Amino acid sequence: MKIHEFQAKQIVAQYGVAVPKGRVAATAGEARAIAQELGGKVVVKAQIHAGGRGKGGGVKLANSPDEAAQVFSQIMGMQLVTHQTGPHGQKVKTVLIEEQMPIARELYLAVLIDSASGRPVMMASAAGGMEIEEVAAKTPEAIHRVTIDPVTGFQPHLARELCFALGLTGDLMKPATQLMSGLYDAFIAKDASLAEINPLVVTTDGRVLALDAKMNIDDNALFRHKELEALRDKDEEDPSEVAAAEKGISNFIKLDGNIGCLVNGAGLAMATMDSIKFAGGEPANFLDIATANDVNKVVDALKIIASDPNVKAILVNIFGGMARVDVIAQGIIEAQHQMPTAIPVVARLAGTNVEEGERLIRESGLPVIRAEELGDAAKKAVEAARAAA
Ligand code: GDP
Ligand code: MN
Repeated sequence: MKIHEFQAKQIVAQYGVAVPKGRVAATAGEARAIAQELGGKVVVKAQIHAGGRGKGGGVKLANSPDEAAQVFSQIMGMQLVTHQTGPHGQKVKTVLIEEQMPIARELYLAVLIDSASGRPVMMASAAGGMEIEEVAAKTPEAIHRVTIDPVTGFQPHLARELCFALGLTGDLMKPATQLMSGLYDAFIAKDASLAEINPLVVTTDGRVLALDAKMNIDDNALFRHKELEALRDKDEEDPSEVAAAEKGISNFIKLDGNIGCLVNGAGLAMATMDSIKFAGGEPANFLDIATANDVNKVVDALKIIASDPNVKAILVNIFGGMARVDVIAQGIIEAQHQMPTAIPVVARLAGTNVEEGERLIRESGLPVIRAEELGDAAKKAVEAARAAA
């Protein structure tokens, strides 16, 4: 789950990360009042779940309360396009007003899980304010990493190592160390998959603050963070993924092609994606029904897959182990009756109760396209999608 900058700042601040003063404004009048409170000079910041807001015109300085109100009105409601939003952009519905910082240096700091070592790593770079992907591609040596032992936590020597790499010396070491260990603590406490500060700034008066903050929370850990539930902003999420989550289907991923995929198991999902691509097609999504032996769940799943207007054909690829093929078959039949528009369905079914499943589909008389194995199924799905498009 992604959250907004202002929410991430509130969280990391609880763990000792210094952040600029500020709060969200709902109206231009409120923006003016907040600017007044903060001494007049502020930054007006669009809150969307995407980076690159500065370049897109979503982060602007205002040097008086009146200007803050004016800039607020420009940013609130705008369709903000950044390199992360796609060409249509994202509508700005929340705006943060913050005190301006006298910036001396912009740095980069993040904590994430390194899948190779299975441990948290803290990454730092003196090239802050830039896209870290770009820094990683062009000057990978400019990124310094330390691996953290989760048992002992973020040790002072790691902070010293990073401070040294960033050129933070003398009086800057203490606030920088506090910020780093606060960021690590917030990352662990909230089961984050990423906690990123870009830029981390050193001010001309010797403070070290998080000027921007981004936090992604591991969805699989959300059940133990009821306090984070309220931070979900469904307006920023893909509507079909939201619908899936509401039906208790967590393994639904939206993609860009035109073939919807109902599968069981992550490995089979990957193999199905590969087979579709090999057959010259592109998957529109995949939904992993796992071992749900519930006809209604299969129907819900097919409806979610079909709700994407890009979907021109559906490939059902099930290897019934714990999942029963006859239940899946009943779901396919029921969904065909319930769905308003007929989207061709290709089914490749194998495993537990496959004979019963086959019989149900045959006797239903519905035009389900049958396939014996995966390559054949993918080919038929690609053909069906082409014919329908
Ligand atoms: P992003 O573009 O979505 O990553 O948004 P950021 O919050 O990182 O802001 C983009 C840029 O705006 C930063 O890298 C800074 O250069 C600038 N900026 C943000 N806040 C301030 C501020 O208080 N003072 C000054 N001078 N610049 C700021
Ligand atoms: Mn940023």
